[in-house]
Amino acid sequence: MSLEAAYDASNIFARIVRGELPAVKVFEDDLAIAFMDIFPQSRGHTLVIPKKSTAANLLDEDPSTLQALIVRVQRIAHAVAKALKPAGVRIAQFNGAPAGQTVFHLHFHIIPVYEGAKLAPHAGGKSDPAELEAIAAEIRAALS
Ligand code: AMP
Repeated sequence: MSLEAAYDASNIFARIVRGELPAVKVFEDDLAIAFMDIFPQSRGHTLVIPKKSTAANLLDEDPSTLQALIVRVQRIAHAVAKALKPAGVRIAQFNGAPAGQTVFHLHFHIIPVYEGAKLAPHAGGKSDPAELEAIAAEIRAALS
């Protein structure tokens, strides 16, 4: 099955890849970028996206890119866990608007889950940029 979603190169994440929009980055290599979600569901909510992809979602992605990408997701999830010490980490990924997708460039959510704390709504309230930068610095330190 494929959703066969048309890829629109003016989407927010493609613009972040091209440097047209800012992002609080925690990781970047030739294949992927990881950056802080600006409407975080919890402290440390991070997104991982492929850089050269034109896949709107996971179903449309080339398997070799997907394989390489999930290894980055694992690495960044390790760093998030080490830096922020959540009780658990949710890895989420939505395909198609009815499934909850709002940005149509493949991405994985890494969402730390803390004991006794409810997650904020998906794509809810905007976070303070200075706070996001401080959290990103902790994750970057755990990656190095
Ligand atoms: P999804 O709904 O799975 O497509 O996820 C898109 C995510 O991107 C949501 O969690 C939004 O909060 C987040 N988001 C939207 N715009 C930006 C942005 N400019 N920088 C970082 N995250 C963003």
